[in-house]
Amino acid sequence: MSDGAHLRPLADIARGGVSAVDVTRACMTAVVNGESGPDRLNAFISYDYEAAIAQAERADNDVAGGARLPLAGVPVALKDNICTLGLPTTCASRMLARYRSPYEATVVRRLRAAGAVIVGKTNLDEFAMGSSTETSAFGPTRNPHDPARVAGGSSGGSAAAVAAGMVPAAIGSDTGGSVRQPAAFCGVVGVRPTWGRVSRYGLVAFASSLDQIGVFGRTVDDAALLLDVISGADRLDPTAVIEAHAGVVDKSGRTHRSGKADAVRPPVIGVPHEYFTDDMDDGVRRACERALDALRGAGCAIRDVSLPHTRHAVPVYSVISAAEASTNLARFDGVRYGGRSGTGDPVEASRTAGFGAEVKRRIMLGTYVLSAGHHDEYYDAAQRVRALITRDFEQAFSAGIDVLFTPTAPRPAFAIGALTDPCSMYASDVFTAPVSLAGLPAMSLPIGSADGLPVGGQFIAARWQDDAMIAAARLLEQALARR
Ligand code: GLN
Repeated sequence: MSDGAHLRPLADIARGGVSAVDVTRACMTAVVNGESGPDRLNAFISYDYEAAIAQAERADNDVAGGARLPLAGVPVALKDNICTLGLPTTCASRMLARYRSPYEATVVRRLRAAGAVIVGKTNLDEFAMGSSTETSAFGPTRNPHDPARVAGGSSGGSAAAVAAGMVPAAIGSDTGGSVRQPAAFCGVVGVRPTWGRVSRYGLVAFASSLDQIGVFGRTVDDAALLLDVISGADRLDPTAVIEAHAGVVDKSGRTHRSGKADAVRPPVIGVPHEYFTDDMDDGVRRACERALDALRGAGCAIRDVSLPHTRHAVPVYSVISAAEASTNLARFDGVRYGGRSGTGDPVEASRTAGFGAEVKRRIMLGTYVLSAGHHDEYYDAAQRVRALITRDFEQAFSAGIDVLFTPTAPRPAFAIGALTDPCSMYASDVFTAPVSLAGLPAMSLPIGSADGLPVGGQFIAARWQDDAMIAAARLLEQALARR
């Protein structure tokens, strides 16, 4: 068995050379080591060594039989809000602690069909509500760069598992930043595709107009390959509208696939000044300035742009996501879904015992903003401001900007337990929530460090321009590697 056999580029793993069984054994050894002892990262909620090896044996057989699969033998971890056969799907909630899904999410079916080995399910904030993985019923995930700090959230387990070298790639979900922010905190690449590019069938819904499945990898190429495999129209999710086999079709009718095209000319990069606030961390600001220098050196034009409604994004996101969460989570009543507990009214007792404090806060807030007396004042107003935030982006992209560049988060990873006030936690989504409201693709990639902690830079593109975004990120990754 070769150590680190699972940490080569995904395309190399898939091409063979080392057997899938050896790759998977190296991966599972790293998972078991990382998840044992008092310093365990707590990145995984469940994993199954034997089942992973059995999948790897099948991948080796398929390859021996002549199959050419894009992810043959590539170990992948899944956020535990994605329905999977053979492993629990808990959403890091007591409510679903014993839930096993009778069906599988479309992304999981696509990964398996591409030859991937599903190794386990990763930790998250309960029902993906949070920015630190601290609201998990199974305890927080630690940051591999500093175990006293959070891994970010809500996909903290997926980000930490990739950053710690347990798995080469992982899947997460991003509603208001839950792929991008933990990617930034852990120093890995995290992509949120255009809303509608990846099927959400089998993703446990939090806020349906915002939820999107995304990917984590060690490099831009790895993330792009994974994204290609899971993208595409799905008759089980009418909001997933893009045909993967034909490549991504943009508005002008051109087709292209992520990761395949490189920028034909260096892109014009817009830098929204609203994303460089007075209270942001100095180290984050400096890392962004260095990244912009590197992009300039690579021939990119850098332009100042304004997205004037940015500061409203967090409150608007809070209202809309809570409203949608309050209706989506109504199904967890101990009757249709969820464990039953307590005495007295079974629905009330099950929800009281099953949900944690943050989930209850969101359900109450959401119920309030949708209530007959307050609907106009909060929910309708939030929808109107959402339209303004979306228009800000459209104006920037119609004025000759190819991609936007911003910090992913205002600060690097904070200490576990440091943010006790919910509003300061919500405020950490300032740079990621606007993109979600507008349904745009965005990604975070490592651009340096501040006080020894990773810093992420965010690229944002217009709807369906995932490809242009990935090309810009690859350009920056290469430019920074040369420095
Ligand atoms: N941090 C945001 C929230 O708490 C985003 C979570 C997510 O994207 N799932 O809602």
